[in-house]
Amino acid sequence: MSEMTCAVWYGVNDLRVERRPLPEPRGREVLVRVAACGVCGTDLHLVDGSIPLYQPPRVLGHEMAGTVVALGPEARSTPLGARVAIDPSLPCGACFFCREAQPYRCPNRTPAIGGFGEYLAVPEQTAYPLPDGLPLEHGALAEPLSCCLHALELAAPRAGETIAIVGAGTIGLLLLQLARRSGAALVAVSEPDAERRELALRLGADLTIDPGTEDPRERLLAATEGIGVDYAFEAVGAAATAACAISLPRRGGTVVLVGVAPADAEIVLRPYELFERELTLRASFIRAFEFRRAVALLPRLEVEPLLGARFPLPEIHAAFAAAGSRRGVKTLVTP
Ligand SMILES: [Zn+2]
Ligand SMILES: [Zn+2]
Repeated sequence: MSEMTCAVWYGVNDLRVERRPLPEPRGREVLVRVAACGVCGTDLHLVDGSIPLYQPPRVLGHEMAGTVVALGPEARSTPLGARVAIDPSLPCGACFFCREAQPYRCPNRTPAIGGFGEYLAVPEQTAYPLPDGLPLEHGALAEPLSCCLHALELAAPRAGETIAIVGAGTIGLLLLQLARRSGAALVAVSEPDAERRELALRLGADLTIDPGTEDPRERLLAATEGIGVDYAFEAVGAAATAACAISLPRRGGTVVLVGVAPADAEIVLRPYELFERELTLRASFIRAFEFRRAVALLPRLEVEPLLGARFPLPEIHAAFAAAGSRRGVKTLVTP
């Protein structure tokens, strides 16, 4: 076999299923047969042209897990047959940020993406072996989970504190599980979709809020004796939800923006309000060194309820439509 099927992104709303040559692993690369790749909000934004993270043409897909089926001549850390999740970017190692031990801020990262294809060759450093017995599909959530770990650790809540999460998609529901396990006294989730609110309750939320009919700030003030929550996480990637998250923390509280908003989204900030509340406003960009721990944590979390419909590669358009319409939580492409 010398060819494979993949979905190539050519530009705004132009995604084509094509046959391409099977990549050959070179140097320290490994060839991975993709078992599952999540469709992320970032993919939707890339394809509709609202964020400029990558340039087309390119095979997208950065939340992937699969099996190592061939090794480059210099690969030595990952055995043939290993079941792995892929950290989708490799820092350059030589820039200011890499040399400051902040490789995730590296502007010269080599993307190791391409999960919307049957196979991809990636540097072996990006392949993380999955725990025995973990379904490969669950491995596709290692990447979003690593982003959640990073966001939570930026805020570093203490046990007994209160946390609000705006949005119950994959990121929100993973953050919820991490917050629950970190000992939060209250975890509240704001989400307009009734099914997702129900899921949030099942996964451990103390209370859920329907922002369509209730004011999240009022609900959370009532739940915290008029004080406000200690931390609020924005897990949607939109202007309105960012503004909502910023309104929630108490005086001296912290907001963490996790969702990836369209590049032209804007919100109004009132400096007086930031001053009066002495608010800490943080943004969380992908991950630093959390990927290994995300993989180790996966068997401890409830992943199955987060998985929505599975689509084979030729149905990638349907997969994107399902992810865009927020049916299920995490839509998977299973090449
Ligand atoms: Zn993602
Ligand atoms: Zn670098």
